[in-house]
Amino acid sequence: MAKNGRDATLQERWTEVCKALQETIGRNNFVTWIEPLQPRGLTDGVLRFAVPTRFIGDWVSRNFVPQIRAEFERLGIDVARLEFQVARKSASAAAAASGGASASSSAESPNGDDTALPGAALDGRFTFDSFVVGKPNELAHAAARRVAEAGAVTFNPLFLYGGVGLGKTHLMHAIAWELNARHPDKRVLYLSAEQFMYRFIQALREKQIMDFKELFRSVDVLMVDDVQFIAGKDSTQDEFFHTFNALVDQQKQIVISADRAPGEIKDLEERIKSRLQCGLVVDLHPTDYELRLGILQQKAEHYRAQYGDLKVAEGVLEFLAHRITTNVRVLEGALTRLFAFASLVGREITLDLAQDCLADILRASESRVTIEEIQRKVSEHYNIRLSDMIGPKRVRTIARPRQIAMFLAKELTTRSLPEIGRRFGGRDHTTIIHGVRRVEELRTADSQIAEDIELLRRLLSN
Ligand code: ADP
Ligand code: MG
Repeated sequence: MAKNGRDATLQERWTEVCKALQETIGRNNFVTWIEPLQPRGLTDGVLRFAVPTRFIGDWVSRNFVPQIRAEFERLGIDVARLEFQVARKSASAAAAASGGASASSSAESPNGDDTALPGAALDGRFTFDSFVVGKPNELAHAAARRVAEAGAVTFNPLFLYGGVGLGKTHLMHAIAWELNARHPDKRVLYLSAEQFMYRFIQALREKQIMDFKELFRSVDVLMVDDVQFIAGKDSTQDEFFHTFNALVDQQKQIVISADRAPGEIKDLEERIKSRLQCGLVVDLHPTDYELRLGILQQKAEHYRAQYGDLKVAEGVLEFLAHRITTNVRVLEGALTRLFAFASLVGREITLDLAQDCLADILRASESRVTIEEIQRKVSEHYNIRLSDMIGPKRVRTIARPRQIAMFLAKELTTRSLPEIGRRFGGRDHTTIIHGVRRVEELRTADSQIAEDIELLRRLLSN
């Protein structure tokens, strides 16, 4: 078969695969990572692409190969391997709407265009408009708004922290969207700490560390999500620290998020901790009833439009806000499922329907006791300090109550072991397993401990 003929078919197939990929990996991922790819050929199971930058190629091969292969397989085409080649300017001219940005000329694109400055993809849903403000998050929201105005840098960094699913990533994306809209000339880079590390390691490997440094030092606003990830990763921390200082020196805004306060991140260098504390540190508190209801109302409004006016009976949202207290992600998931289900069976969303369709989620959030409550009650009971629950002390008078609290956390909450470990001062999950086992043994051997546990359990389930 002529080469041209084959390429034409490949292009057609690729178009088909692309359609499917938009569904499976989401529109934002698709636009950022897949759209820039140009299929160049498929021989002996090796599918070759031209890419505008090496980074995009690496990213795709790390994150989207299984999905791409699966879609080809659906078309009956076996793809064993994907190869990426950085396109020369002329070669990619047809492809890139941005005029074929080449890998080396990363600095001049004025609109922070993705091929030139590929941070992570921004989620189109995470804007200020869709962020519901309540008491637990009003400070974080106000600070994020302030940063998004991009006036004089008044606090640097902005450090947002809080538990899973409370809106940290949402707020960071919202800042980026707002900045892109208001100040298209500003170079805004958002990425997770994990991506930061990945790119750093890659730069080291490819001896492009100067490019890496230059890229990160040339941004106007740097946002790094989930910074706890780099704790204990020494050379990445080091590089992060230098980047951070360089940007602060230039009065460039930095926004950081983490799952806990700077001082509580284990294995993070002291100098970084103190640097992080220099700016404004705000936490997102666990949601309260009003906030949860507000979020549900907003999402329900959205879904009602989408599903063509499905009715929601009175009291359903209130019921959910009351019962699902874990985090916003779970809350959203519940609502999504509820609407999908109701539209499928063509019924109004009633309390009965909700209880039926969400039985598992409701059961899982039945125990509303939190790890913090457990720690508080246990430390009160044994007359030790709350801080000793997460601290390092190993004397038995402290270690034992701590293990009992671990045991109760395992029993009374739906938290995973790693999650429990994190709440106990960043301990490893194996430490939690050990603690839980130890208490199980003691409980059968020592009636005093058995009694204590029963008492605490009762106190906590009130
Ligand atoms: P985190 O990064 O803190 O783990 P996310 O920002 O990913 O949490 O939020 C989890 C989900 O909950 C997202 O879908 C987000 O849009 C939603 N969410 C969290 N807080 C709010 C809020 N205040 N208003 C609207 N949606 C929210
Ligand atoms: Mg997040």
